[in-house]
Amino acid sequence: MAGYGHIMSPIFEDLGVFLRVGESTDVVTKEMYDFEDKDGKRIALRPELTASVVRAFVQHNPTNLPWKTWYEGPQFRHERPQAGRYRQFSQVGIEVLGSDDPQVDVEVIALGWRFYESLGLREVTLLLNSLGDDSCRPAYFAALEAYLRDHAADLSEMSRETLDKNPLRVLDSKRREDQSIVAEAPLMVDHLTEETAEHFAAVRAGLDVLGISYEISPRLVRGLDYYTRTTFEYASTALENAQNAVGGGGRYDGLAESLGGKPTPGIGFALGVDRILLACDAEEVFPGPTVAPDVFIVDLTGGAEATKLADELRQGGIAVDRGFDARSMRAQMKVADRSAAPYSVLIGEDELAAGMVTVRDMYGDTGQTQVSRTDLLNELTTRLGR
Ligand code: AMP
Repeated sequence: MAGYGHIMSPIFEDLGVFLRVGESTDVVTKEMYDFEDKDGKRIALRPELTASVVRAFVQHNPTNLPWKTWYEGPQFRHERPQAGRYRQFSQVGIEVLGSDDPQVDVEVIALGWRFYESLGLREVTLLLNSLGDDSCRPAYFAALEAYLRDHAADLSEMSRETLDKNPLRVLDSKRREDQSIVAEAPLMVDHLTEETAEHFAAVRAGLDVLGISYEISPRLVRGLDYYTRTTFEYASTALENAQNAVGGGGRYDGLAESLGGKPTPGIGFALGVDRILLACDAEEVFPGPTVAPDVFIVDLTGGAEATKLADELRQGGIAVDRGFDARSMRAQMKVADRSAAPYSVLIGEDELAAGMVTVRDMYGDTGQTQVSRTDLLNELTTRLGR
Protein backbone atom coordinates (compact mmCIF):
# COMPACT_ATOMS: atom_id res chain seq x y z
CA MET A 1 0.00 0.00 0.00
CA ALA A 2 2.88 2.34 0.74
CA GLY A 3 5.56 0.77 -1.47
CA TYR A 4 7.18 -1.50 1.10
CA GLY A 5 8.50 -4.89 -0.03
CA HIS A 6 8.31 -7.95 2.20
CA ILE A 7 11.62 -9.14 3.65
CA MET A 8 12.18 -12.48 5.36
CA SER A 9 15.45 -12.65 7.24
CA PRO A 10 16.76 -15.65 9.16
CA ILE A 11 15.60 -16.42 12.70
CA PHE A 12 19.23 -16.74 13.76
CA GLU A 13 22.29 -14.74 12.78
CA ASP A 14 25.93 -14.56 13.60
CA LEU A 15 26.19 -13.25 17.16
CA GLY A 16 28.40 -10.41 15.92
CA VAL A 17 25.48 -8.79 14.05
CA PHE A 18 23.81 -8.05 17.37
CA LEU A 19 26.93 -7.48 19.46
CA ARG A 20 27.98 -4.70 17.15
CA VAL A 21 24.69 -2.84 17.62
CA GLY A 22 24.07 -2.99 21.32
CA GLU A 23 26.97 -4.00 23.47
CA SER A 24 25.92 -1.89 26.40
CA THR A 25 22.22 -2.69 26.30
CA ASP A 26 20.15 -5.21 28.23
CA VAL A 27 18.58 -6.54 25.03
CA VAL A 28 21.97 -7.72 23.85
CA THR A 29 23.92 -8.45 27.02
CA LYS A 30 21.22 -10.04 29.17
CA GLU A 31 18.26 -10.94 27.01
CA MET A 32 19.79 -12.55 23.96
CA TYR A 33 19.74 -16.31 23.46
CA ASP A 34 23.05 -17.34 21.98
CA PHE A 35 24.76 -20.68 21.53
CA GLU A 36 27.65 -22.36 19.80
CA ASP A 37 26.90 -24.49 16.76
CA LYS A 38 28.77 -27.68 15.83
CA ASP A 39 31.64 -25.69 14.33
CA GLY A 40 32.01 -23.60 17.46
CA LYS A 41 30.43 -20.56 15.73
CA ARG A 42 28.55 -18.15 18.00
CA ILE A 43 24.94 -17.92 16.86
CA ALA A 44 22.14 -15.78 18.28
CA LEU A 45 18.37 -16.09 18.04
CA ARG A 46 17.32 -12.67 16.84
CA PRO A 47 16.09 -10.42 19.68
CA GLU A 48 14.82 -7.87 17.13
CA LEU A 49 14.89 -7.39 13.37
CA THR A 50 16.37 -4.00 12.56
CA ALA A 51 19.97 -5.23 12.82
CA SER A 52 19.14 -8.24 10.59
CA VAL A 53 17.44 -6.06 7.97
CA VAL A 54 20.37 -3.63 7.91
CA ARG A 55 22.77 -6.59 7.72
CA ALA A 56 20.81 -7.77 4.64
CA PHE A 57 20.92 -4.24 3.18
CA VAL A 58 24.68 -4.04 3.59
CA GLN A 59 25.15 -7.52 2.15
CA HIS A 60 22.93 -7.05 -0.93
CA ASN A 61 23.55 -3.35 -1.43
CA PRO A 62 20.28 -2.43 -3.24
CA THR A 63 20.62 0.58 -5.52
CA ASN A 64 17.04 1.84 -5.53
CA LEU A 65 16.90 4.14 -2.55
CA PRO A 66 15.10 4.66 -0.33
CA TRP A 67 14.86 0.92 0.21
CA LYS A 68 11.55 0.28 1.96
CA THR A 69 10.79 -3.09 3.56
CA TRP A 70 8.35 -4.66 5.98
CA TYR A 71 8.56 -7.85 8.01
CA GLU A 72 6.74 -9.93 10.56
CA GLY A 73 7.86 -12.83 12.67
CA PRO A 74 9.08 -14.18 15.98
CA GLN A 75 11.76 -12.57 18.16
CA PHE A 76 13.42 -14.10 21.20
CA ARG A 77 14.49 -12.52 24.46
CA HIS A 78 15.53 -14.16 27.68
CA GLU A 79 12.97 -12.58 30.02
CA ARG A 80 11.00 -13.57 33.06
CA PRO A 81 7.74 -14.41 31.29
CA GLN A 82 4.70 -12.47 32.49
CA ALA A 83 1.65 -10.84 30.90
CA GLY A 84 2.87 -8.90 27.86
CA ARG A 85 6.48 -10.04 28.25
CA TYR A 86 7.41 -13.31 26.63
CA ARG A 87 10.54 -15.17 25.64
CA GLN A 88 9.17 -15.62 22.14
CA PHE A 89 6.98 -12.86 20.79
CA SER A 90 5.94 -11.52 17.40
CA GLN A 91 6.64 -8.21 15.77
CA VAL A 92 5.45 -6.48 12.63
CA GLY A 93 7.83 -3.81 11.44
CA ILE A 94 9.03 -1.58 8.64
CA GLU A 95 12.45 -0.15 7.82
CA VAL A 96 13.46 2.56 5.35
CA LEU A 97 17.10 2.91 4.38
CA GLY A 98 18.74 5.58 2.29
CA SER A 99 16.95 8.82 3.14
CA ASP A 100 17.08 11.23 6.04
CA ASP A 101 14.21 13.36 4.73
CA PRO A 102 12.02 14.21 7.76
CA GLN A 103 9.02 13.34 5.57
CA VAL A 104 10.21 9.72 5.75
CA ASP A 105 10.05 9.93 9.56
CA VAL A 106 6.52 11.27 9.27
CA GLU A 107 5.50 8.49 6.85
CA VAL A 108 6.91 5.78 9.13
CA ILE A 109 5.37 7.15 12.32
CA ALA A 110 2.02 7.71 10.58
CA LEU A 111 1.89 4.18 9.12
CA GLY A 112 2.29 2.73 12.63
CA TRP A 113 -0.32 5.08 14.02
CA ARG A 114 -2.85 4.29 11.28
CA PHE A 115 -2.28 0.58 11.86
CA TYR A 116 -3.48 0.86 15.48
CA GLU A 117 -6.38 3.03 14.29
CA SER A 118 -7.36 0.48 11.67
CA LEU A 119 -7.65 -2.18 14.39
CA GLY A 120 -10.01 0.12 16.27
CA LEU A 121 -7.58 0.91 19.11
CA ARG A 122 -8.22 4.37 20.53
CA GLU A 123 -6.16 4.40 23.71
CA VAL A 124 -2.74 4.67 22.12
CA THR A 125 -0.42 7.60 22.83
CA LEU A 126 2.47 8.54 20.57
CA LEU A 127 5.58 9.52 22.52
CA LEU A 128 8.18 11.44 20.56
CA ASN A 129 11.77 12.46 21.23
CA SER A 130 14.97 13.33 19.44
CA LEU A 131 18.14 11.65 20.66
CA GLY A 132 20.33 13.94 18.58
CA ASP A 133 23.26 12.69 16.54
CA ASP A 134 27.05 12.86 16.53
CA SER A 135 26.92 16.61 16.04
CA CYS A 136 25.08 17.20 19.34
CA ARG A 137 25.99 14.22 21.46
CA PRO A 138 29.51 15.04 22.70
CA ALA A 139 28.36 18.27 24.37
CA TYR A 140 25.21 16.64 25.72
CA PHE A 141 26.96 13.52 27.00
CA ALA A 142 29.55 15.67 28.74
CA ALA A 143 26.81 17.70 30.44
CA LEU A 144 24.84 14.56 31.38
CA GLU A 145 27.84 12.68 32.67
CA ALA A 146 29.05 15.63 34.73
CA TYR A 147 25.59 15.98 36.25
CA LEU A 148 25.26 12.25 37.03
CA ARG A 149 28.76 12.06 38.51
CA ASP A 150 27.90 15.01 40.75
CA HIS A 151 24.95 12.95 42.03
CA ALA A 152 26.59 9.51 41.83
CA ALA A 153 26.55 9.01 45.60
CA ASP A 154 22.75 9.12 45.60
CA LEU A 155 22.24 6.87 42.54
CA SER A 156 21.40 3.16 42.82
CA GLU A 157 24.33 0.78 42.55
CA MET A 158 23.00 -0.47 39.22
CA SER A 159 22.84 3.04 37.80
CA ARG A 160 26.37 3.78 39.02
CA GLU A 161 27.53 0.77 36.99
CA THR A 162 25.45 1.86 33.98
CA LEU A 163 26.96 5.32 34.26
CA ASP A 164 30.41 3.91 33.50
CA LYS A 165 29.13 2.13 30.39
CA ASN A 166 26.52 4.48 28.96
CA PRO A 167 25.28 7.52 30.90
CA LEU A 168 22.25 7.82 28.60
CA ARG A 169 20.85 4.54 29.87
CA VAL A 170 20.74 5.83 33.44
CA LEU A 171 17.81 7.95 32.24
CA ASP A 172 15.94 4.70 31.61
CA SER A 173 16.27 3.55 35.25
CA LYS A 174 13.03 2.47 36.88
CA ARG A 175 14.60 2.39 40.38
CA ARG A 176 12.92 4.56 42.97
CA GLU A 177 16.14 6.01 44.39
CA ASP A 178 17.16 7.29 40.92
CA GLN A 179 13.94 9.04 40.06
CA SER A 180 14.53 12.48 41.58
CA ILE A 181 18.02 12.65 40.03
CA VAL A 182 16.81 11.50 36.61
CA ALA A 183 13.97 14.05 36.75
CA GLU A 184 16.44 16.94 36.98
CA ALA A 185 19.02 15.61 34.50
CA PRO A 186 19.92 17.68 31.43
CA LEU A 187 17.84 16.75 28.38
CA MET A 188 19.02 15.88 24.88
CA VAL A 189 16.26 17.97 23.28
CA ASP A 190 17.80 21.06 24.93
CA HIS A 191 21.20 20.27 23.38
CA LEU A 192 20.28 19.70 19.73
CA THR A 193 22.35 21.49 17.12
CA GLU A 194 20.44 23.81 14.82
CA GLU A 195 20.27 21.28 12.00
CA THR A 196 19.01 18.45 14.19
CA ALA A 197 16.51 20.73 15.88
CA GLU A 198 15.20 21.76 12.45
CA HIS A 199 14.86 18.12 11.40
CA PHE A 200 12.89 17.37 14.57
CA ALA A 201 10.69 20.43 14.02
CA ALA A 202 9.94 19.25 10.47
CA VAL A 203 8.89 15.83 11.78
CA ARG A 204 6.54 17.42 14.32
CA ALA A 205 5.11 19.78 11.69
CA GLY A 206 4.47 16.82 9.37
CA LEU A 207 2.59 14.96 12.09
CA ASP A 208 0.58 18.11 12.83
CA VAL A 209 -0.46 18.32 9.18
CA LEU A 210 -1.74 14.73 9.37
CA GLY A 211 -3.61 15.47 12.59
CA ILE A 212 -1.61 12.86 14.51
CA SER A 213 -1.17 14.02 18.09
CA TYR A 214 1.95 13.22 20.09
CA GLU A 215 3.52 13.92 23.43
CA ILE A 216 7.10 15.13 23.48
CA SER A 217 8.79 12.72 25.84
CA PRO A 218 12.28 14.11 26.43
CA ARG A 219 13.32 11.13 28.59
CA LEU A 220 12.34 8.49 26.08
CA VAL A 221 15.35 6.31 25.31
CA ARG A 222 15.09 3.10 23.36
CA GLY A 223 16.39 -0.35 24.26
CA LEU A 224 19.25 -0.37 21.74
CA ASP A 225 22.24 1.90 21.25
CA TYR A 226 21.93 2.62 17.57
CA TYR A 227 19.15 5.20 17.65
CA THR A 228 19.77 8.75 16.48
CA ARG A 229 17.52 11.81 16.08
CA THR A 230 13.81 10.90 15.85
CA THR A 231 12.74 8.22 18.33
CA PHE A 232 9.20 7.26 19.25
CA GLU A 233 7.09 4.79 21.12
CA TYR A 234 3.40 3.92 20.94
CA ALA A 235 2.03 3.32 24.44
CA SER A 236 -1.36 1.84 25.22
CA THR A 237 -3.06 3.47 28.18
CA ALA A 238 -5.36 0.44 28.28
CA LEU A 239 -2.44 -1.75 29.43
CA GLU A 240 -0.52 -1.78 32.68
CA ASN A 241 2.31 0.73 32.83
CA ALA A 242 5.22 -1.69 32.93
CA GLN A 243 4.26 -3.43 29.69
CA ASN A 244 2.32 -0.70 27.92
CA ALA A 245 4.62 -0.14 24.93
CA VAL A 246 2.82 -1.63 21.95
CA GLY A 247 5.49 -0.53 19.51
CA GLY A 248 8.45 1.72 19.01
CA GLY A 249 11.12 2.81 16.64
CA GLY A 250 13.37 5.54 15.44
CA ARG A 251 16.24 6.66 13.25
CA TYR A 252 19.49 4.75 13.15
CA ASP A 253 21.62 6.81 10.79
CA GLY A 254 24.90 5.15 11.85
CA LEU A 255 23.83 1.51 11.88
CA ALA A 256 24.62 0.53 8.27
CA GLU A 257 28.13 1.89 8.68
CA SER A 258 28.67 0.05 11.96
CA LEU A 259 27.67 -3.17 10.19
CA GLY A 260 30.33 -2.60 7.53
CA GLY A 261 28.28 -0.71 4.92
CA LYS A 262 28.40 2.77 3.43
CA PRO A 263 27.05 5.54 5.67
CA THR A 264 23.28 5.24 5.07
CA PRO A 265 20.54 6.88 7.08
CA GLY A 266 17.67 4.65 8.20
CA ILE A 267 14.49 4.63 10.23
CA GLY A 268 11.90 2.03 11.20
CA PHE A 269 9.54 0.68 13.80
CA ALA A 270 8.58 -2.65 15.34
CA LEU A 271 5.08 -3.21 16.68
CA GLY A 272 4.53 -5.90 19.31
CA VAL A 273 1.77 -8.20 18.06
CA ASP A 274 1.21 -9.97 21.40
CA ARG A 275 0.74 -6.70 23.27
CA ILE A 276 -1.48 -5.31 20.51
CA LEU A 277 -3.78 -8.30 21.01
CA LEU A 278 -3.75 -7.65 24.78
CA ALA A 279 -4.64 -4.00 24.08
CA CYS A 280 -7.48 -5.16 21.77
CA ASP A 281 -8.79 -7.31 24.63
CA ALA A 282 -8.45 -4.46 27.12
CA GLU A 283 -10.26 -2.02 24.81
CA GLU A 284 -12.73 -4.70 23.77
CA VAL A 285 -12.06 -4.15 20.10
CA PHE A 286 -11.70 -7.25 18.06
CA PRO A 287 -10.43 -7.75 14.56
CA GLY A 288 -13.28 -7.98 12.03
CA PRO A 289 -14.73 -11.36 11.03
CA THR A 290 -12.48 -13.51 8.90
CA VAL A 291 -13.02 -12.91 5.22
CA ALA A 292 -15.89 -15.02 3.93
CA PRO A 293 -15.50 -17.07 0.76
CA ASP A 294 -17.56 -15.98 -2.26
CA VAL A 295 -19.16 -19.37 -2.66
CA PHE A 296 -19.72 -22.51 -0.62
CA ILE A 297 -20.20 -25.75 -2.58
CA VAL A 298 -22.58 -28.36 -1.20
CA ASP A 299 -22.00 -31.64 -3.06
CA LEU A 300 -24.53 -34.44 -2.51
CA THR A 301 -22.84 -36.80 -4.98
CA GLY A 302 -19.90 -37.87 -2.83
CA GLY A 303 -17.52 -34.89 -2.97
CA ALA A 304 -15.36 -35.47 -6.05
CA GLU A 305 -17.46 -33.04 -8.14
CA ALA A 306 -16.95 -30.35 -5.50
CA THR A 307 -13.18 -30.86 -5.78
CA LYS A 308 -13.31 -30.29 -9.56
CA LEU A 309 -15.70 -27.37 -9.37
CA ALA A 310 -13.77 -25.65 -6.54
CA ASP A 311 -10.54 -25.92 -8.52
CA GLU A 312 -12.21 -24.51 -11.66
CA LEU A 313 -13.82 -21.58 -9.84
CA ARG A 314 -10.68 -20.76 -7.84
CA GLN A 315 -8.70 -20.58 -11.08
CA GLY A 316 -11.36 -18.15 -12.28
CA GLY A 317 -10.65 -15.88 -9.31
CA ILE A 318 -13.56 -16.92 -7.05
CA ALA A 319 -12.90 -17.68 -3.37
CA VAL A 320 -14.43 -21.09 -2.67
CA ASP A 321 -15.01 -23.24 0.39
CA ARG A 322 -16.87 -26.57 0.35
CA GLY A 323 -18.27 -29.44 2.40
CA PHE A 324 -16.31 -32.64 3.07
CA ASP A 325 -16.97 -36.16 4.34
CA ALA A 326 -20.08 -36.70 2.16
CA ARG A 327 -22.23 -35.25 4.92
CA SER A 328 -25.97 -34.74 4.65
CA MET A 329 -27.37 -31.72 2.85
CA ARG A 330 -28.52 -30.28 6.17
CA ALA A 331 -25.07 -30.64 7.75
CA GLN A 332 -23.32 -29.10 4.72
CA MET A 333 -25.81 -26.21 4.55
CA LYS A 334 -25.09 -25.47 8.20
CA VAL A 335 -21.39 -25.11 7.43
CA ALA A 336 -22.26 -23.00 4.37
CA ASP A 337 -24.28 -20.68 6.64
CA ARG A 338 -21.46 -20.41 9.11
CA SER A 339 -18.97 -19.57 6.34
CA ALA A 340 -20.99 -16.40 5.58
CA ALA A 341 -20.47 -16.96 1.83
CA PRO A 342 -23.03 -14.88 -0.10
CA TYR A 343 -23.73 -17.80 -2.48
CA SER A 344 -23.92 -21.54 -2.18
CA VAL A 345 -23.76 -23.95 -5.11
CA LEU A 346 -25.60 -27.26 -4.82
CA ILE A 347 -24.69 -30.35 -6.81
CA GLY A 348 -27.24 -33.21 -6.62
CA GLU A 349 -27.36 -36.50 -8.59
CA ASP A 350 -29.95 -35.19 -11.11
CA GLU A 351 -28.05 -31.95 -11.61
CA LEU A 352 -24.80 -33.80 -12.12
CA ALA A 353 -26.44 -35.96 -14.83
CA ALA A 354 -27.90 -32.87 -16.53
CA GLY A 355 -24.67 -30.80 -16.34
CA MET A 356 -26.38 -28.25 -14.09
CA VAL A 357 -25.92 -26.81 -10.60
CA THR A 358 -28.21 -24.83 -8.32
CA VAL A 359 -27.00 -21.41 -7.20
CA ARG A 360 -28.58 -20.19 -3.98
CA ASP A 361 -28.49 -16.55 -2.94
CA MET A 362 -27.87 -16.90 0.80
CA TYR A 363 -28.84 -13.39 1.94
CA GLY A 364 -30.45 -11.54 -0.99
CA ASP A 365 -33.85 -12.16 -2.50
CA THR A 366 -32.93 -13.91 -5.77
CA GLY A 367 -33.58 -17.33 -4.21
CA GLN A 368 -32.46 -20.40 -6.13
CA THR A 369 -31.60 -20.64 -9.82
CA GLN A 370 -30.52 -23.58 -11.95
CA VAL A 371 -27.42 -22.71 -13.95
CA SER A 372 -25.60 -24.76 -16.52
CA ARG A 373 -22.26 -25.93 -15.22
CA THR A 374 -20.43 -24.27 -18.14
CA ASP A 375 -22.05 -20.88 -17.41
CA LEU A 376 -21.39 -21.02 -13.67
CA LEU A 377 -18.12 -19.07 -13.59
CA ASN A 378 -19.65 -16.27 -15.71
CA GLU A 379 -22.81 -16.22 -13.66
CA LEU A 380 -20.92 -15.96 -10.35
CA THR A 381 -18.47 -13.38 -11.70
CA THR A 382 -21.40 -11.19 -12.78
CA ARG A 383 -23.30 -11.65 -9.55
CA LEU A 384 -20.24 -10.81 -7.49
CA GLY A 385 -19.69 -7.67 -9.59
CA ARG A 386 -16.17 -8.65 -10.63
P1 AMP B 1 11.51 -2.82 21.33
O1 AMP B 1 12.27 -2.70 20.07
O2 AMP B 1 12.21 -3.56 22.42
O3 AMP B 1 10.94 -1.51 21.80
O4 AMP B 1 10.26 -3.73 20.94
C1 AMP B 1 9.21 -3.26 20.14
C2 AMP B 1 7.89 -3.79 20.65
O5 AMP B 1 7.93 -5.21 20.74
C3 AMP B 1 7.58 -3.32 22.06
O6 AMP B 1 6.96 -2.06 22.03
C4 AMP B 1 6.65 -4.40 22.53
O7 AMP B 1 5.33 -4.16 22.07
C5 AMP B 1 7.17 -5.64 21.84
N1 AMP B 1 8.01 -6.44 22.78
C6 AMP B 1 9.30 -6.25 23.12
N2 AMP B 1 9.73 -7.20 23.97
C7 AMP B 1 8.68 -8.03 24.17
C8 AMP B 1 8.48 -9.24 24.95
N3 AMP B 1 9.46 -9.80 25.66
N4 AMP B 1 7.26 -9.81 24.92
C9 AMP B 1 6.25 -9.27 24.19
N5 AMP B 1 6.39 -8.17 23.43
C10 AMP B 1 7.57 -7.55 23.42
